[in-house]
Amino acid sequence: MAPVYNEHENLDVLCERLTKTLTSLAGDSWEIVLVDDGSKDTSWEIIERLHAADPRVVGLRFSRNFGHHIALAAGIDAARGNRVVTMDSDLQDQPEEIPTLAAKMDEGYDLVYATRMGRQHGFAKKLSSSGFLWFLNRLSDVPEPITGAVFRLMNRPFVDELTRLRERHRLFTGMTAWLGFRQTTVPVEHAPRYAGKTKYDFRKMVKLSVDSVTAFSAKPLFLMMYLGMIISLTAVALGTYIVLRRVFGNFSIVGWASIMAAVSFFSGIILMALGIVGQYVGRIYEEQKGRPMYVLQTRLDTAVVDTAGLAPIVASDTLSQSC
Ligand code: UDP
Ligand code: MG
Repeated sequence: MAPVYNEHENLDVLCERLTKTLTSLAGDSWEIVLVDDGSKDTSWEIIERLHAADPRVVGLRFSRNFGHHIALAAGIDAARGNRVVTMDSDLQDQPEEIPTLAAKMDEGYDLVYATRMGRQHGFAKKLSSSGFLWFLNRLSDVPEPITGAVFRLMNRPFVDELTRLRERHRLFTGMTAWLGFRQTTVPVEHAPRYAGKTKYDFRKMVKLSVDSVTAFSAKPLFLMMYLGMIISLTAVALGTYIVLRRVFGNFSIVGWASIMAAVSFFSGIILMALGIVGQYVGRIYEEQKGRPMYVLQTRLDTAVVDTAGLAPIVASDTLSQSC
């Protein structure tokens, strides 16, 4: 499955290359799930055309942009295969590498994730994302390393457990690390984007980073508490020193500037601490509302009975529905 956000130049080639690889790997027994994450270009029209040409291409259309990791969740929810591959739709993850992941899984793993060789992102992005992942792995207590690449292959038992995790502020790669099972990695070649520009602007990157930290660690709250304690102890020591100087007589009023600097500094720290607490409280608020993680506007699916033994899904139904 692949999430799609304004990728109209990439979808035809993606499906062509996927069809070729999947047919040689699994004969007729495969499907491609494309999740349109509220694209503003012609991506959805292309998905409709691809589905009409080959009903094994399943299309889900969100009612608006919900974000990369929620689109991944929707694709995994919809996928029916015994094995599920997640990958980006810009061809940076190459379809031809899927057999490499599958061969590794045959050795007895439940999750095989790609380690991107020759990663094709800008220097600043590589540095910031590897620095951030290092920091996240230090903060969080998950049993497996959290890595950045969404290109991974999961088997059915793993997918079934993953679909039970319904939080909305999510980092897909962190959640798979949290789940456990038998996990391993294989090196795969990372390609440059086939066409178009990155869909991750600065705002989306900051949001994903904050979501990742708050979803996998409560340590920022502890760090703020420790910082508060250190500052309070320093203040007590300073207070004692001033009292002693007053008692022993050589007290003089100086340092208006230093008082102002200290007041501003500590006000900043207090606001920062409140902000951090607020991030966690806000997430509790969001989760307790119990809204669906995403809303589907349209679903293009073939008349197949899904493996859970549910009712047949009507061909090309275009009902509004939420999951
Ligand atoms: N994407 C998405 N929703 C978004 C942003 C991105 O579904 O809000 C998809 C995008 O279409 C692509 C994948 O997520 O398939 C990764 O995005 P991109 O290639 O822009 O990220 P980068 O490789 O630059 O980190
Ligand atoms: Mg990309």
